[in-house]
Amino acid sequence: MNRLAVYGKGGIGKSTISANLSAALSEAGRHVLQVGCDPKHDSTKLLLKGKRLTCVLDYLRDTLPGDYRLGDVLEEGFAGVGCVEAGGPKPGVGCAGRGIISTFEMLEQFRLSDAYDTILYDVLGDVVCGGFAVPIRREYADTILIVTSGEFMALYAANNILRGVRTYDGAEGKRIAGLVCNCRNVTDEIERVERFAAAVGLPIFATVPRSNSFAEAEGANMTVMEHGQDGELIELFRDMAKRLAEGAPLHPANPLSDEELESVVLDSAAPHAGTDGASCGSVELQSEGTCDPDPTSQETTAEAEFGDSIDLTDPNRYLSKTVARGDPLHGCAFNGAIATALHLTDAVVLAHAPTSCANLSLQAFTSSGRRRLFERGALLPASLAPNFACTHMDEHDMVFGGTGTLIDAVRAQQQKGPRAIIVVSSCPAGIIGDDVDRVLDLSTPECPVLALKTDGNMTGDYLQGQLSASLAIARAFIKHDLPKQEKTVNIFAEKMVVTNTQANFDTVAGFLERMGVRVVSRFLYQATTEQLANFTSAQLCLPAYTDYTASLLGQLFSEEFGMELFDRGFPIGYDETVEWLRAVGAAFGESETAERIISEQEQTYRAQIDALRPSLAGKKLMVVSYNCELDWILRTALDLDMEIVRVGLLDYSQDVGFRTRIEADLPVVENYAREARGDEIAALAPDVLLTNYASPLGDSVPVADTIPMCPDVGFGSAITLARRWAQLLKTNAKGSWKDDGILFEQSFL
Ligand code: SF4
Repeated sequence: MNRLAVYGKGGIGKSTISANLSAALSEAGRHVLQVGCDPKHDSTKLLLKGKRLTCVLDYLRDTLPGDYRLGDVLEEGFAGVGCVEAGGPKPGVGCAGRGIISTFEMLEQFRLSDAYDTILYDVLGDVVCGGFAVPIRREYADTILIVTSGEFMALYAANNILRGVRTYDGAEGKRIAGLVCNCRNVTDEIERVERFAAAVGLPIFATVPRSNSFAEAEGANMTVMEHGQDGELIELFRDMAKRLAEGAPLHPANPLSDEELESVVLDSAAPHAGTDGASCGSVELQSEGTCDPDPTSQETTAEAEFGDSIDLTDPNRYLSKTVARGDPLHGCAFNGAIATALHLTDAVVLAHAPTSCANLSLQAFTSSGRRRLFERGALLPASLAPNFACTHMDEHDMVFGGTGTLIDAVRAQQQKGPRAIIVVSSCPAGIIGDDVDRVLDLSTPECPVLALKTDGNMTGDYLQGQLSASLAIARAFIKHDLPKQEKTVNIFAEKMVVTNTQANFDTVAGFLERMGVRVVSRFLYQATTEQLANFTSAQLCLPAYTDYTASLLGQLFSEEFGMELFDRGFPIGYDETVEWLRAVGAAFGESETAERIISEQEQTYRAQIDALRPSLAGKKLMVVSYNCELDWILRTALDLDMEIVRVGLLDYSQDVGFRTRIEADLPVVENYAREARGDEIAALAPDVLLTNYASPLGDSVPVADTIPMCPDVGFGSAITLARRWAQLLKTNAKGSWKDDGILFEQSFL
């Protein structure tokens, strides 16, 4: 046993059991790390004489990455047990599981799994948040203990935990050492727990009697192991530790249906787990015998039609880079799926989630709109989400199942007459095993219902959610093999959370319109179900970007829908725009029009350069960047007669290396050393320093600017930047701040 997850309902006593078990394991010669995964962050208190640790989540929020020190969040407690608390936000606010995920990332960063031979995770098992399922994942825990009592709620929570384990392990996986009955002295307690254990096919690993010794030890801020007064309890924990250390037999998770569970807990005539250990979920709307025991066995084929269930974790393809590589996940798939589905403007997106998950998703969706509103005073329709609804899962749903709530919510939405309903499920729904597919029975030709089972960070990261939702929506709404319409295109892979997406589309659509080319559909940005239905009538699909995500979408459109793909993304800067216009012109027999547009645009560009040249000619430009394609900036700088003194390409880049069409000699240094920047800035004395992220080194340069992640498209991409530099140099903004400082000192100090 190396990594043990102790799960159980809040308040059931699992932290006390965990701390005593850690102490006993340590006593038995193990080098133990206990990780508290409960927002109450008191798991390790008894090992630390009552001291509360700084939670990892709080620490990460308040500390700069370069300042992280393990000793700030890890302390050694009784018997040498290492102690860490994940922490988390207040209940109902934010993603409580985020603390756990951040903690795991930090433990990996400090290679703590090398420093300890045993890690014990003490995890709350009944919180409405899927982050708490993370320790169930096979890569984190190889052994699971479930603490329960004979109380209804504790056994419900235990059964929910089994559902979560079953989701990860299927019927074959064996990781559960058994149940720990922490007695509360309720009526028939042992019998109830025994009935439950028999029904789910698990042993009772230990029975911990109700004892004042726990309270006495806790009164002294100690574990009973340290307190040393109750020999029987000490022997009990030593025995548990010994069996775990020796490798206790492990068992598969066979959760019960709600009906079976009630029968087991309330009656003595309990049904036992089937031979394969599977049990059906709730059966409303589902005819007898149709329950699929394997949640991963749904069809994932391209032939899926309206109403078909689509498993979003296609094992072979359409995986985000992070998921494909098995890297730590960033953001959650539920958020990504919601952000994508909301762009289908005549559908309702129904989140089957607690309010906190829904709030996080909406906040991510609307943030670019808020930014634009503050920066430019304009609010774009694409940043509003009038077509969003939520089931607002609560504790009742978590205990008794939320499928009924979901079905009621779908029916209520159907009354409003949307063109489709897209249900997106969160990790809480996944953990408790809600049968989300049951909404498919409510699908009608007028209002199809889609079920996107993106269980938050249980299924992947934000990008995975986007990809999976795109896949499901494309397969559901795009009609195959329509007759082609002359001079038509689809646009795909536009960025959803940047402020210039619509402006960039307008620029490109303007070029296309001049060539008589019409946009049929945008996938997926502010589109209707009808536009998607006509997708295959377009002659060509134009990507906005040619990155990893665009490649996967392109693959989907070409392989499954027979679409022809254009091989260039939206053009950025002078050279790319000339080439793009010529290529599009050639594709549609509009080369002459393309040349006319180029000549007009060139005149505009030259006039802009002429206006800016007096301010910027002779000024020194230094660029330090991860980007290897910088022609759009460098070309404009040269046209402005600026002097490029350095182009430093940081080694972090996963790109294939510097590429340029510019024939002039450029002072390019690849694998540019970060440490060289300060010295070079002093030696080269640039007037303008351009970097990907704001850097303190910019303080010593007259103008420090950042390279936008998603620049404006067209000839003048860099003109916006150059205007800013000219303005800043003219107003000597830094000088005036210094003047402000002098004024402040004179007036107040
Ligand atoms: S769905 Fe996302 S926000 Fe909700 S609990 Fe899961 S990871 Fe957190």
